[in-house]
Amino acid sequence: MELVDTFGRVHRDLRIAVTDRCNFRCQYCMTEEGMVWMPRDGLLTFEEIERIARLAVERYNVDSIRLTGGEPTVRAHLSRLVRKLADLGVDLAMTTNGVSLPLVADDLREAGLRRLNISLDSLHRDRFLELTRRDDLDRVLQGIDAAIDAGFDPVKINVVLMNGINDDEIVDFARFGRDKGVMVRFIEFMPLDADEQWGPDRVVPLQRVIEEIHEAFPIEAIERTSAPATRYRYLDGQGEVGVIATVTEKFCDTCDRIRLTADGQFRNCLFAVTDYNLRDAMRGGATDDELAAIIEGAVHDKWAGHGIDTVHFIRPKRNMSQIGG
Ligand code: SAM
Ligand code: SF4
Repeated sequence: MELVDTFGRVHRDLRIAVTDRCNFRCQYCMTEEGMVWMPRDGLLTFEEIERIARLAVERYNVDSIRLTGGEPTVRAHLSRLVRKLADLGVDLAMTTNGVSLPLVADDLREAGLRRLNISLDSLHRDRFLELTRRDDLDRVLQGIDAAIDAGFDPVKINVVLMNGINDDEIVDFARFGRDKGVMVRFIEFMPLDADEQWGPDRVVPLQRVIEEIHEAFPIEAIERTSAPATRYRYLDGQGEVGVIATVTEKFCDTCDRIRLTADGQFRNCLFAVTDYNLRDAMRGGATDDELAAIIEGAVHDKWAGHGIDTVHFIRPKRNMSQIGG
């Protein structure tokens, strides 16, 4: 059976936040003081996560799972969970800030994780410190090398672009990706920052990113899939670059994502304002059929699009680290 919503979109991509905790406090995600962490006993256990993932894979043909957070690598014994999920035979990926990869990349690869997205928003040490509130640029760069050496393929670099903050690094990042043989993906800043600093003027639109890169390294568009990135290939054959234009060129009509938060809430959209509580259902003794009914109801209720560009847009109460970006 497929997990289809009322607009005919089939959902096969499950994002699982394994923790809301993080060792960074990025300006566009958390407040300077950090967040109030969810109580530990409120987080799903690995067995509970595996149960939902298995249901999604076996009942609804979900074939892609991405671990995220918070920072997934701060969850103890993460490779134990990776092993359980890899056994489900899905395409297993993770999004990380990269700082722990020099220590854990080999273990995670060996446990069955296949693909890695590493977040990096500046190649300048002082700016990196300002943005993440941690002086760890070198560790993240070592993390990228560790991921490549461990055999992750592909390794992608996520760059959140913000006007007036790091938008002068577009070509530098393109060059970095070409030199390292990794795919750089520029992400438009979204209204999910805990500080509520977001405004449309802070978003760097896809069109500008593409024009700047094309001038330095000519590119051509690659045909779109259900993936959120608009992809381009370098005409000289040196790889690809992508833009995730959630704000200026939304891709809601092809969205195939569903989400599970670290505290066990099922969400049908990054920008959803409703959570569907699978944790309490599981802990209250729900059967798989009862959990499936909650999931199907949630997907049925999915709206057509996020509407950031409309007056009807409601900002979710959760920030990115509490949803799982
Ligand atoms: N801690 C991990 C990391 O930073 O990669 C995983 C969780 S993080 C919430 C997932 C992704 O969301 C990262 O690529 C991060 O840059 C992005 N992100 C966080 N806040 C964002 C925002 N307000 N707008 C756009 N992207 C954001
Ligand atoms: Fe942590 Fe990732 Fe949020 Fe940065 S973006 S504070 S690394 S969860």
